[in-house]
Amino acid sequence: MRVIFLGTGTSHGIPVVGCDCPVCTSTDEHNRRTRASIWIQAKLGSIVIDTATEFRLQAVRAGLKHLDAILLTHPHADHLHGLDDVRPLCKEENPIPVFGSELTLEELSRRFDYIFHPRQKGGGVPNLSLKTISGGTPFRIHGIPIVPFTVKHGKLDILGYRIGTFAYITDCSFIPEQTFPLLEGLKILVLGALRKRPHPTHFSIPEALKVVERVKPQMTYLTHLCHEVDHEAIKKELPEWVAPSFDGLVLDLEDP
Ligand SMILES: [Zn+2]
Ligand SMILES: [Zn+2]
Ligand SMILES: [Zn+2]
Repeated sequence: MRVIFLGTGTSHGIPVVGCDCPVCTSTDEHNRRTRASIWIQAKLGSIVIDTATEFRLQAVRAGLKHLDAILLTHPHADHLHGLDDVRPLCKEENPIPVFGSELTLEELSRRFDYIFHPRQKGGGVPNLSLKTISGGTPFRIHGIPIVPFTVKHGKLDILGYRIGTFAYITDCSFIPEQTFPLLEGLKILVLGALRKRPHPTHFSIPEALKVVERVKPQMTYLTHLCHEVDHEAIKKELPEWVAPSFDGLVLDLEDP
């Protein structure tokens, strides 16, 4: 199974529009971050977690040509608004299933109303089928075992996903006690951490490191980073078993 980081930036992306800070003007490609999303290429299927704002650019760059399912963490714009760009990957016969919490799918239906009430032929809309799931109730996509779990994003309950020994958590500020058993024995954890300073709805880097200390994955990659974080600088500060992710990072793991 291959994990491809399509995007690793916070909701503004980096560079931020109109910002002249050292990270936004940096020449290091690692400091150019599109909105957070990953692509999982398993033997049995191809899955993305979230359809970030730059989905089209991300999919073209990564060579994504086939999609069996979309897993959504939550309905914030940066994680959802690339949804229309899955159109070329849709087939008329079978809709692409979109998995998310009840709240996420309700919000999606409101925001992408036109997808579900097409008004005339031509133009085209994504062919999707919405599948409600909830934290702690596993399911399968073409035989691939998926474990969704609940984490807190400020006051909002959102979903993280575990596939085999890999787990993806973004936009999290608190992990409920009942979720920790679902994170045991991880080889790779992807964990959202916004910046060094605290934030009300996202883990800071020091808070993320406390989670790593408890969960003890073999390796952790930080994502959803903002322009206060310089890639090379933070790499030097983090322990060996934690690294900043970057757009285009590829990890190979055994299939679940
Ligand atoms: Zn976000
Ligand atoms: Zn900046
Ligand atoms: Zn969010």
